[in-house]
Amino acid sequence: MKRSVSKKDVLQVCTGDITRLAVDAIVNAANNSLLGGSGVDGAIHRAAGPRLLALTRTMGGCPTGQARITPGFDLPARWIIHTVGPVWHGGGQGEAALLRSAYESCLTLAVEYRLRSIAFPAISTGVYGYPFAEAAEIAVRTAWGFTSDLDTIIFCCFREQDAAFINLAPI
Ligand code: ADP
Repeated sequence: MKRSVSKKDVLQVCTGDITRLAVDAIVNAANNSLLGGSGVDGAIHRAAGPRLLALTRTMGGCPTGQARITPGFDLPARWIIHTVGPVWHGGGQGEAALLRSAYESCLTLAVEYRLRSIAFPAISTGVYGYPFAEAAEIAVRTAWGFTSDLDTIIFCCFREQDAAFINLAPI
């Protein structure tokens, strides 16, 4: 995996499969059911093993913009923070506020659980259709608000070309 490090070293970008990262928590771009799906959600459920679905079946889902935490089970990461980003409908339906809320909810849970390192996929930018550059700006701006609380916040890009859209400078 390639990494680039920001001045403050807390914010980082990497490319590759988030399920391989040995951080305190990886974030899952889940859907409202929390029962697994396509993209990163499917990859996380496959890598965490069947105990994850057995637990999320009991959790009653998650509203868009909120987050829930589970163990990482078979993953190298200790925890999975599941969040639900908005579906992109053109930008006029509160998508930006919901995406910010998704990132904020994950980071708040990480602080509550006294975690030091967290890795995010690019929430909502796959099947949910959020334009990548706009989503990345929200991700970075929200994460800067938590750089005093965590040691490492990684933005993990599955597609190598996506990493170029992430500007870690404070906005
Ligand atoms: P959403 O429904 O929130 O759009 P997707 O899983 O379809 O979620 O896509 C979100 C992002 O996750 C996309 O940028 C996609 O390239 C990326 N992605 C897919 N698989 C992985 C993976 N294994 N690790 C990291 N990122 C991934």
